[in-house]
Amino acid sequence: MSTAFIETRGNDGQHPEQVRFSDAVLTPMASFGGLYSPERLPQLEEDFFTRHLESGYVELARDLIRRFGVDIDDGVIEEALALYRRFDDPDHPCPVVQVKEDLFVSELWHGPTRAFKDMALQPFGVVLSALARARGEEYLILAATSGDTGPAALETFKNRPGVRVACLYPDGGTSDVQRLQMVTEDAPNLKVIGIHGNFDDAQAALKQLLASKSFQARLDQQHIALSAANSVNFGRILFQIIYHVHSYLELLRQGAIAPGEKVYLDVPSGNFGNALGGYYAWKMGLPVERIIIASNRNNVLTDLIRSGRYDIRERELIATTSPAMDILVSSNVERVLFDLFGPERTRELMSELTENRAYQLSDEETAELQRHFVADFCDDAEGLAYIRSTFEQQGYLMDPHTANCFKAFDSCRELPLKTIAYSTAEWTKFSPVIAEALTGKAGLRDQEALERIATKAGIEIPAVIRELFERPIAQDSVIDKQDIEREILSFLERA
Ligand SMILES: *Cc1c(COP(=O)(O)O)cnc(C)c1O
Repeated sequence: MSTAFIETRGNDGQHPEQVRFSDAVLTPMASFGGLYSPERLPQLEEDFFTRHLESGYVELARDLIRRFGVDIDDGVIEEALALYRRFDDPDHPCPVVQVKEDLFVSELWHGPTRAFKDMALQPFGVVLSALARARGEEYLILAATSGDTGPAALETFKNRPGVRVACLYPDGGTSDVQRLQMVTEDAPNLKVIGIHGNFDDAQAALKQLLASKSFQARLDQQHIALSAANSVNFGRILFQIIYHVHSYLELLRQGAIAPGEKVYLDVPSGNFGNALGGYYAWKMGLPVERIIIASNRNNVLTDLIRSGRYDIRERELIATTSPAMDILVSSNVERVLFDLFGPERTRELMSELTENRAYQLSDEETAELQRHFVADFCDDAEGLAYIRSTFEQQGYLMDPHTANCFKAFDSCRELPLKTIAYSTAEWTKFSPVIAEALTGKAGLRDQEALERIATKAGIEIPAVIRELFERPIAQDSVIDKQDIEREILSFLERA
């Protein structure tokens, strides 16, 4: 049985009323600017978890994907899942380690770019490329990145047929490691462009390009279609359900919980893809008490969950030390609204957000949301203190995104249940902040920060990070916004 995908804002009569997985992946925009969501989620039987106690990650993933009945060949699924072999330990791509009495950390960053985007983007790259090839089509993926999606997208699409990637980043707005991960990527189907400006400028430039008629005409001429690899693509969400189930199984294996015992999932959230994967896993049968939504100072989600109000009228994006969570419009929340309140209400709420930059849920709706989620946020100073104290007291090194979860763990649990917190980046990705937490020395560049942390913690800098500083620069475009269209068109002619 194959799962049908339906639209979060209802149907406009122009789009098909339901599509298959492959269509949702290739053409992710649905009626009225909505998203595709599964019509029904497969249900895991009670003994699913005991039966999978001995399963490796790939075996578990295969079973879950089969239950979704996606319309892609088994061979492609196998090829996609084989990419977990690039992780430190292929059977445990996300090790789960106990850090405090009730707190277990699922480390989602053991893939090639040392951040959690690899968990979904690695297999997603194979899926998208295979779908493009099967249809004889050529896709261009445009991405604007503040640092983590860019490296992961470039890494997964490198040299894959049927897909080209043009990736915009704010020059000076990413960490040295993140920038090097992008500009040292050398493949004919990849283009990395630094923009003079900040992340908002990069994103605005991308939007302008997407709206440009001359750009669209040139794409048509060359028979290139646009696609998206951002986290609203269900092709990514599918792979994000799996690690929540796997992490729960790990707690069972470690004897930390008994079968059926409920846990909290504690998720450092931005665009809500990670949390949505947990929500779907819960709906499929994972024993969850609540999902804890951890934010930084850009705490729209904290407000939404506590008050039922999503309001960005008075907000400006704040640059924090957990930049992958610096987001005001959190796209995947829409899929939760759809699941809880249906398409008509979701469309109404989303158009209020577009028109008035705010919406308010009713009391009943807010209560329903709170039956699923609790939330808190953490500012940079608190995060720094958590990084320091967790290193000093538990000997555990973590990055600033993960630190936001530690605060939420302390403040959000209403029951003394075991908690799985998701760690989304290795310490190597945000080393200046961590070096400051550990040594008190602020403002270091990445290379020196990495060395100081390694010395202080008695660990080694992973080779993939160390070697970045020696690799030749393959992508040297740093340009003004108005030159982007020309730059990308000349890349398309070359490739
Ligand atoms: C993308 C990202 C997040 C936020 O995840 P969402 O799925 O967008 O909520 C958190 N931490 C890091 C390091 C990330 O790269």
